[in-house]
Amino acid sequence: MSPKSILSDRSRPLVIAGPCSAETREQTLSTCLALAETGLVDVLRAGIWKPRTSPGSFSGVGEEALGWLAEARSLTGLPVAVEVATARHVESAVSSRSRGAVDLIWIGARTTVSPFAVQEIAEALRGTDVPVLVKNPLNPDVELWAGAVERLLAAGVTPGRIGLIHRGFSYLGRGRYRNAPAWPLAFEMRDRFPVLPMICDPSHMGGDRKYISELAQSAADLRYDGLMIESHICPDRALSDPAQQLSPADLASVLRGLNWRAEAADDPEFVRSLAMFREEIDQIDTELLGLLGRRMRISEQIGAIKRSNNVAILQNSRWAEIRARLLSQAAQLGLSPEFLSQILNAIHLESIARQQRD
Ligand code: PEP
Ligand code: MN
Repeated sequence: MSPKSILSDRSRPLVIAGPCSAETREQTLSTCLALAETGLVDVLRAGIWKPRTSPGSFSGVGEEALGWLAEARSLTGLPVAVEVATARHVESAVSSRSRGAVDLIWIGARTTVSPFAVQEIAEALRGTDVPVLVKNPLNPDVELWAGAVERLLAAGVTPGRIGLIHRGFSYLGRGRYRNAPAWPLAFEMRDRFPVLPMICDPSHMGGDRKYISELAQSAADLRYDGLMIESHICPDRALSDPAQQLSPADLASVLRGLNWRAEAADDPEFVRSLAMFREEIDQIDTELLGLLGRRMRISEQIGAIKRSNNVAILQNSRWAEIRARLLSQAAQLGLSPEFLSQILNAIHLESIARQQRD
């Protein structure tokens, strides 16, 4: 794959894999060679400038590793990618392209949050042709993520050279995953920038290798355009992110186990059944809307008679009775209490708002 078509070829999912960090020449080359041998990897990755939370942590070997990556590239024939966080990083990564080192760069989550840093990277990319992937910011803020893309576009980076990486978000109070995915937020980015490929990074989402397969499958189910997964020749000895890295062999088995379903199929029976079910769904949605409209109009009438009789809008006992009745009906219909509660709360809030209107 030529560097320029890395992002534009969306006929099959793109797989980017490699160590969290390039640590030594030996570790970089052995990991990259083992990954290339799987035949399942399209682009090699390695962090060489690592933005670490604590100043004492391993922060990458820097420019020296560009030479190791150039070797990995010529031994495997695969393009290589590094993370950049400053204009100086871009200059050394991109100018080293003449020696064949870096074909693609990415902006990390800690950098996407900083408009100054993104602006300086965007300006350093002016006049180059290197593709750039933008990871989501640490916090679930779609505007920051979109703003980073807009800065690149404004600096003349063409849409065909930009991609997005959903790596999850940090939340107060850690749940199952290190950085929880926010699939709807990533969908919003996709809607705003439909031409940009959306790649999932299950390694930084999960924070533990045991979650990578389930998260990657979720991405495949949601029709992501590719995956970025960390892989180390000896994960437990990795100097950064040891818990989440997979050996090249384990990465290959995760990739082989994924089911990327097609968006569409042309089997006539499938097409006919799908059209029939969709028609039924469209009909049901129309009925649901009609019923909601009717319910709200009745609610307004109740509001009017409550007003003229000087009765309070919110009557907790009546609402508790409605909830209890519907929850038991929902269970019989196979609808979960969480789902029903969300719908009821939305209906209740809207009803109260209408009754408050004069
Ligand atoms: C990385 O890809 O190694 C990395 C530092 O990721 P993130 O910016 O998603 O934390
Ligand atoms: Mn990492």
